[in-house]
Amino acid sequence: PDEEPALHVDAIDVIYGRAVSALRSVSLTVPHGGVVALLGANGAGKTTLLRAVSGTLRLHRGAVTAGRIRYGATELDGRDPVAAVRAGVVQVPEGRRVFAGLTVDENLRTGGLGLGRRAPALVREARDRVFALFPRLAERTHQAAGLLSGGEQQMLAIGRALMAAPRLLLLDEPSLGLAPQMVARIADVVKEINSQGTAVLLVEQNAGMALSLADSAYVLEVGEIRLSGAADELARTDAVRRLYLGET
Ligand code: ATP
Repeated sequence: PDEEPALHVDAIDVIYGRAVSALRSVSLTVPHGGVVALLGANGAGKTTLLRAVSGTLRLHRGAVTAGRIRYGATELDGRDPVAAVRAGVVQVPEGRRVFAGLTVDENLRTGGLGLGRRAPALVREARDRVFALFPRLAERTHQAAGLLSGGEQQMLAIGRALMAAPRLLLLDEPSLGLAPQMVARIADVVKEINSQGTAVLLVEQNAGMALSLADSAYVLEVGEIRLSGAADELARTDAVRRLYLGET
């Protein structure tokens, strides 16, 4: 019945520990098959929002204390990461956290664990899709992930998430610390993933890149949504041009 799920974050509050307020009444929608950018300065709460959706907030001593998060018919607030992955929602954490001591292939297989027990063929299929997207990884299947370049590690982190065949991918600052050429490559990859039917919620400091990819965008400021709208319209507003696109 639920062929075209969308993500609905509805007026959530998030706190860390007992009292640190990180998000206040934040609402956001990612339509089925869409690309949505989430912009904001350091500490605005972008990562916190992704954690709330992917069920990883509790690992950081955080909690959703008000509001709701739904993906299609599935309630995601208060659930764990396994529930989110089962629903088709997978997060790529910031800082391209790969298992440095494991090979490329072993890293990818950790992303497909949920698939593996049921059908090895599914894992092979998922891996073939990842290698088609990232030929560099296919050439390095037996290399330790820690020996890859920064850009290759980011690709591996994305590839590992794709092993779970997400319908919604949560991407946390994929361009961080990468050379411009690699940033352009990551942008192409996001387009390609989206064109294959996966929706993307993209957290970025690189507002120019994010707005060029996204259909719509939200700007977070100290835990609250300040601006939202169509990406091309937001890119033309004075506030976004000055604060996030570095124009004067
Ligand atoms: P960045 O780009 O630096 O990751 P961000 O917009 O993703 O910034 P968050 O990491 O979500 O911001 O942080 C939002 C607020 O929550 C900040 O004030 C941060 O200090 C606080 N915070 C984040 N994680 C924790 C935690 N585990 N415990 C306590 N406070 C936290």
